[in-house]
Amino acid sequence: MNLPSLPLSSSLGALRGLGPARAAALQEAGIESLRDLLWNLPYRYVDRGEVVPLGRLDMRGFEAPRMEGEREVVTVLGTIRDVRQSATRVRHMSLTEVLLEDGTGTLRLIFFNQPYLARSLKAGERLLAWGPLMHGRAGLELRGPQIERMGKEDEGAWVRRFLPLYRRIGPLSSRIRAQLVEEGLRRVAPEEWLPLELRKDLPDPEVALRLLHQPPDDTDAGQLARGETPAHRRLAAEELFAFSLGVEARRAGRMKRRGLIVPTSPELRERLRSYLPFTLTGAQRRSFKEIVDDLTSGRVMHRLLQGDVGAGKTLVAFLSMAMVAETGGQGALLVPTEVLARQHAASLARYLGTESHRLQVLLGPMKAAEKRAAMARIASGEAAYVVGTHALFQESVAFKDLRLVVVDEQHRFGVKQREALKQKGGDPHWLVMSATPIPRSLALALFGDLEQSILDELPPGRQPIRTQLVHPDRAERAWELVRRELEEGRQAFVVSPSIDPSDEGKVQLRDIQAMEALLASIFPDVGIEMVHGRLKADEMNARMQRFVSGEARILLATTVIEVGVDVPNATVMVVDHAERFGLSQLHQLRGRVGRGAHRSHFVMVSASESERLQTLVETQDGFRIAQKDLELRGPGEFFGTRQSGVPQFQVADLVRDRLLLSRCREAAQKALQAGLSEGQRAWLSREEARLKLAEVS
Ligand code: ADP
Ligand code: MG
Repeated sequence: MNLPSLPLSSSLGALRGLGPARAAALQEAGIESLRDLLWNLPYRYVDRGEVVPLGRLDMRGFEAPRMEGEREVVTVLGTIRDVRQSATRVRHMSLTEVLLEDGTGTLRLIFFNQPYLARSLKAGERLLAWGPLMHGRAGLELRGPQIERMGKEDEGAWVRRFLPLYRRIGPLSSRIRAQLVEEGLRRVAPEEWLPLELRKDLPDPEVALRLLHQPPDDTDAGQLARGETPAHRRLAAEELFAFSLGVEARRAGRMKRRGLIVPTSPELRERLRSYLPFTLTGAQRRSFKEIVDDLTSGRVMHRLLQGDVGAGKTLVAFLSMAMVAETGGQGALLVPTEVLARQHAASLARYLGTESHRLQVLLGPMKAAEKRAAMARIASGEAAYVVGTHALFQESVAFKDLRLVVVDEQHRFGVKQREALKQKGGDPHWLVMSATPIPRSLALALFGDLEQSILDELPPGRQPIRTQLVHPDRAERAWELVRRELEEGRQAFVVSPSIDPSDEGKVQLRDIQAMEALLASIFPDVGIEMVHGRLKADEMNARMQRFVSGEARILLATTVIEVGVDVPNATVMVVDHAERFGLSQLHQLRGRVGRGAHRSHFVMVSASESERLQTLVETQDGFRIAQKDLELRGPGEFFGTRQSGVPQFQVADLVRDRLLLSRCREAAQKALQAGLSEGQRAWLSREEARLKLAEVS
């Protein structure tokens, strides 16, 4: 029977064996087209060689156990002999025990808090299970394994070495999905969108899809599990190429926009020089030159300025604002918190010296009269340098001639807010500053349509920050260090993790209140301020101010101090439960000390994850730390909160495929120059909709 072949964009209705109930369930899961169906790859492949006969489990050195952390993970297949439900002594905990047999032996599977399993699993059923093998009270057991029910037809279908497993979607079991995929693979028409340089040596897309849904026996099991086969690379290239085309197209569009030309002159240069309190570092000089080139090019600048903590981004931002402010326009610096706004305003005022009257701060909770006066100065252009929080977005704020917006910590600003600000003045130039170094692949994915300047050099004379990791049993050492620094007249930060209420009781954590009590008992005569995210803004400011002024000697905080706080007299920071933080976050925290002339210390108190935390002891290179953090936690968690702007790829992985992403970007630039075909354009718009690229900056 020869059915006509279908393009990937066809709706699933064209496939046989898909009734309305199944189609609806798929649609619910976002699977509507043939492409959606085929690109949803198995979540796991079971290698038949991996399945260990139960009777051999207690032999030492059974075949090929995979390691997951420090535990041995094994895969077994057997028939359920018995299912039992019991309660444990620990409250709210139920335990389901399944006894599995396979003719060579038996094994106990233990499930925690999944009481429904006792109802749904029946003696006589066949079960594939994998999980950590442990010694329990009654011998070996699999604790908290994952399972897949195997019908008769499944095992019949398992004729190859690899059994692909798909997530169940409503009424569609893994097996049914495999059948649908098979039908899809038979019907799909070949389509090629990649330029030659990206697909050289890689399988065609429909071949790649078949290789990943029905891996041949000679596939490398390790590569398959890690997503590193040529077939994976082929599909990843397609996603990353589409992504890069979208980003490059937007960038090209922006390049065509006419930007305000900032006129330069010897006088301007002289003026800027007069503001400079010190010689710029080589990296600052280079970055500033890149910005000047943008501002004088006649195009709209969209540039990301990133660099290590303390590399001097603020000074570069100030110089950029001065470029427009000294030539008749206005520059605005937008920051996420009031504390930061005040601090940046203070730095800018220092740079401006006698010209500081041209600076205006605008904050949400200002008194009405004060705010009115501030807005009047902004509207008249009298304020050439404006620093503010989200209050700058308010409709009532009008600028006379806004030519440059500098956004600090941009990832905390939404696209909408940026748009709102853009409405306020023609088409201003943009400079985005990121607080921590961002690994290149993530920067490309998140800010790919921005040009980049990188400050990879610290101002001279910085001393490295002495970093140590201590076990809670020896926390006394940390407090000793704090005591010594306080005696020298210095100040100290203590950081406690902010605790999610859902964590309470589950893990042994010392919260910020307990830490406050502890500090009060260790340092009875010392002024301590405590700040956390639940404080009202004015209370937070007042407390911070008491620390900044030196009235309080210890600042106990959750990560609210992560961004920006500049107190050069603070020379020691102790982070409790350091394992609760990401590496980049810790590095950012560490950057709060070592800002003055005195030697500084950073102490992480932690009972676990010493290997990961050791990275901070070993290096102070923020870019290396960021890369490591990305590898360990993945792009979604990199910024500490789930980042909506990170594109959701189905096959591509920003860590694994980072070199491929760079190549795709170059290929996309070339392809755009050569011009896209009609078909490519249609393909691209489908892909863009899928990746929701519009949400990316
Ligand atoms: P970042 O925002 O990149 O973390 P900052 O702009 O806050 O860094 O600068 C950190 C400190 O270094 C500030 O106290 C600043 O005055 C100082 N600084 C910046 N540039 C230089 C320079 N070229 N030479 C000496 N000190 C500098
Ligand atoms: Mg800064």
